[in-house]
Amino acid sequence: MKKNRILAVVAATLLCMPAASTTFAEDHQHTWDQGVWTWRSNTSAYVTLTCTEDGAKQLSAGKITVSQQPATCTEPGKTIYTASTLFDGKTYTDSREVVTSQATGHNWKVSGWTWSDDNSQATVTVTCQNNTSEVRTLNAEVRSDVVEEPTCVDEGKTTYTATAKDPETGKSYVTFKNVTTPINPDGHAFETGTWKWNEDHSKAQYIATCLLCGKEVPFDATLTQTVTKEPTCTEEGEANFKATAILDAADPEDTTVQDETTGAIKALGHDWQQPTFTWNADKTKATATFVCARDKSHTKVVDAVVTSKVTKEPTASTTGEKVLTATVTLDGKTYSENQTLSLDKAAKSSSVSNKQATKATRVDTVDTGINTLTGVYASVAAISAGLFVTLRKSKK
Ligand SMILES: [Zn+2]
Ligand SMILES: [Zn+2]
Ligand SMILES: [Zn+2]
Ligand SMILES: [Zn+2]
Repeated sequence: MKKNRILAVVAATLLCMPAASTTFAEDHQHTWDQGVWTWRSNTSAYVTLTCTEDGAKQLSAGKITVSQQPATCTEPGKTIYTASTLFDGKTYTDSREVVTSQATGHNWKVSGWTWSDDNSQATVTVTCQNNTSEVRTLNAEVRSDVVEEPTCVDEGKTTYTATAKDPETGKSYVTFKNVTTPINPDGHAFETGTWKWNEDHSKAQYIATCLLCGKEVPFDATLTQTVTKEPTCTEEGEANFKATAILDAADPEDTTVQDETTGAIKALGHDWQQPTFTWNADKTKATATFVCARDKSHTKVVDAVVTSKVTKEPTASTTGEKVLTATVTLDGKTYSENQTLSLDKAAKSSSVSNKQATKATRVDTVDTGINTLTGVYASVAAISAGLFVTLRKSKK
């Protein structure tokens, strides 16, 4: 009976006409309410429309759409059925939801830890794996444990452990980090040590030994000396040497160590002044006599090497000139003196000079033993010219 009635309603809807009903007035303009939906199942529904003045009528859903809404962290998954029907230019609609799955709940995972500079505070950031736009930051409690104390030579080690509890889930997150701590700023503790002097007492070191680590550390000392016996040119003197080392520049008062010893001071060595040159008669030899500035009784005579150079050749009308240089070297220093001699005019002819030169060379060889000069024209000329003058002088 009921079934037949509904079929009639559906037919009426399809014809876009009110269902045939004897209770409805012919010339009456109906005023329908919002309608009341009835679901027979998820795929079957009808709406009951009631006129404010006369009877009610039922219309089957013209269309039922189905949509799925997946579960989220906080909302369950649903299937939504929406029924709608068009009547008299107006659409009537209704929805019902059917829960198909539970809300998934969050799935928090650590995405990173942040520590304060001094490691006294830390926070953890957790991100929901189901929806990465869900991010939370939780404060952690930090505990520090000294694993190794620093010493004067080795760094120490401290472990910081951070624990963050999520009040929402009760879950705890834990991380830790190891931090090296700097070497004990007080450094070594020195109480003993030994002194080391070099042979001439020009340098001293204090070798300090650390009580804590046993390491030996050298400290350069500053030195002062008090002469107890003055040295001379040739004899050593004697002095009292005092060494002072500061083991900690920040606390010199309590960390100064001293040592004293006596020792020799090197002989001074002579302080030679500019020498006096003594030449032989023909200026072929010279000696240099040195006198010590500290004691005039200290003298030294050194044979000089004599070289000569004609600086101006004689001509028939003018005299020539040559310079003799005596050179000595003493204690790595070179001293020299020049003697200038004038050379006679070349006179009548050069043949005389040449003869003299030849003769002089021979004489020179005999007298001085300088053989190697013979082949060098300039030197031979210089020596022969010199001898020529000498010979001339000796004739007087
Ligand atoms: Zn009506
Ligand atoms: Zn979530
Ligand atoms: Zn030490
Ligand atoms: Zn001297």
